[in-house]
Amino acid sequence: MPALFQTHQIQGKAGDGPNLLITAGIHGDEYEGMVAIRKLIGSIDNNNLRGRLTLVPVVNESAFALRSRTGEDELDFARTCPGKDDGTTTERVAHELSQLIEDSDYYIDLHTGGSIMQVDPLVGYNLVSDSSILEIQQHMARAFGLPIIWGTSANLDGRSLSIARDAKVPAIYAEYLGGGECSHKGAQAYFEGCLNVMAALEIINPRPPSPPPDLVVEDPRPSSGHMQICHPSPMDGYFEAAVTLGQTIKQGQKLGHIIDPLGTDTRPISADHSGRVIVLRSCPAVKEGDSLAVILETKSI
Ligand SMILES: [Zn+2]
Repeated sequence: MPALFQTHQIQGKAGDGPNLLITAGIHGDEYEGMVAIRKLIGSIDNNNLRGRLTLVPVVNESAFALRSRTGEDELDFARTCPGKDDGTTTERVAHELSQLIEDSDYYIDLHTGGSIMQVDPLVGYNLVSDSSILEIQQHMARAFGLPIIWGTSANLDGRSLSIARDAKVPAIYAEYLGGGECSHKGAQAYFEGCLNVMAALEIINPRPPSPPPDLVVEDPRPSSGHMQICHPSPMDGYFEAAVTLGQTIKQGQKLGHIIDPLGTDTRPISADHSGRVIVLRSCPAVKEGDSLAVILETKSI
């Protein structure tokens, strides 16, 4: 059966080493990682590479073609892993990706906020119980070099990182803006970040150290890191934000409001805790229950 997505492998000639898997486009409307991986394909010299790089710029081709988070079956890829080989398109692609993850030694998964959200640039990982794997993930996250590091509960299933967790493959993911655009800065930060992790894992020669992060938060509470459930909209309507991405706010502060088309029904949205706004909805049209914002609690948890 033909592969369900395009994979590019680079076998190093500088000696033995691990197999590092890097993916983007698990959600079809998240572009920075796609650009960064294409750039890696065009620039890695295998004479300077130890081990192997496995690169997938667009995992979810069906969703990419639809310019959407999900493909034609409307299943969220990040709830579908490990998928199944006789299922719908998303289930089959999830199955194929899960096998690639299980065959890898390290994994980086590149995301963004997609077409409707924006995310403050961050790198994250699961707070797995195996301390040796956790330490490698923390090392990879620091090396990647984004301003926020966020360790979250390892209990969420269905994601690419859940497969890595179960296969004991050290893994990180990254987020960088979104909002339906492709930030050149974000694509470059992802390209550099992947090279930084490759250097940290000694797959390529050392690089200058990454700048220290602004913020490191490890939050082991169940469902921490689940971005789609925070500050749900109380009704269908139009979201107008009162805060900006990256802003530090206090519990109870107004995040924005939902308003109906005639402007007769306005519902204020308040922050349910204090912290930094790390995800903010950029698409005004909302349905009841849609997430409007995520606040990263910056006090000790
Ligand atoms: Zn995503």
